[in-house]
Amino acid sequence: MNNPATTLTCTQCGGELHPDEGQIFLVCPYCSATVYVDKRRVVFHWSVAPTLNADQATAALYRWMSGSQTVKDLDKKSQITGRDFQYFPLWYFKFGSKDREETALEPAAATSVSELANLNIPAGDLRKYDPALDAESEPPSVPLEAALEWFRQAHPQAEVRETALVHVPIYIFKYAHRSQTYTAVVDAASGNVLVNIYPAKDEMPFRLVGGVAAAVYLCIASIPVMGAFSGSDGLGTGLLICSGAGLVAAPFLVAWATWVASKV
Ligand SMILES: [Zn+2]
Repeated sequence: MNNPATTLTCTQCGGELHPDEGQIFLVCPYCSATVYVDKRRVVFHWSVAPTLNADQATAALYRWMSGSQTVKDLDKKSQITGRDFQYFPLWYFKFGSKDREETALEPAAATSVSELANLNIPAGDLRKYDPALDAESEPPSVPLEAALEWFRQAHPQAEVRETALVHVPIYIFKYAHRSQTYTAVVDAASGNVLVNIYPAKDEMPFRLVGGVAAAVYLCIASIPVMGAFSGSDGLGTGLLICSGAGLVAAPFLVAWATWVASKV
C-alpha cells in the first residue's frame, strides 16, 4: 500500500512519515522534528515551557485582582473555587515579509476565554513538543482549515508563510464574586492574566459626580446673567455671588468625588 497520494512528508526534512491510524502527534524518525497531522497536512508541533508554578500563578491572579481594572478589593471579596493546569492548543500563523515577520494565533480548541488568542509567544520560546506532555495537553478540536478561515478574515492581504500547532501552558482559575462565577486564565509562561468577563470597576458613580458638578456650576454661572437683566448693578453683584458660591461648592464636590473613588 504505497499510494503516493497518502504519503506524508516531514515539514523539516521531507522524509516520509507513516502515522498509525488516528495518530496526530508524530516525531519524525529521520530528523526527530515534532509534527502534527491535520487531515493530510503536516505542520510543526511546538510547546512553550511554563515558568510559573501553581502558587506563583495564584499570586499573579491576586495581583491582577487588586489592580485598577477590577472592582475594589476583588482580591479580598472573591473566592477561588477551582484551579487547573493544562497545555492549551493554539494555531500559530507566521506571515508578512522576511524583514517584517508577524504572527497570529487562533484557538485550536473550544474556550470561554477567547483572549487566549492574544497571548504573546516570542519565537525563541517555542520548543519541540514532548510526547511526555500528552497527559496534560488538550488535543486540537478546531480544524486547521477553520482557523485559517478566521485568520484570512482578520488579515485579508496576508500570505501565510508558516503554520504550526503550539501547546501553551496555562492555569485556568474559577472564582466566585457576589454569587457569580468567573473564569480567568494565567499564562504560565509570562504570568499575564487573560479574561473576557470580570467584575469591572463601576463607572456610573464617577459619571454622576461629574454630572452634578457640571449642573452646580451651570447654576452658579447663570447668577451674573440673571443679575445683568435685573438692573444697573445686577451684573457686578451677580459676579460676586457667583465666585463666592463657586468657592463654597468646590470643597463639597471634591470631597464627594474622593469618597466615591474610595468606594468603587
Ligand atoms: Zn524529518
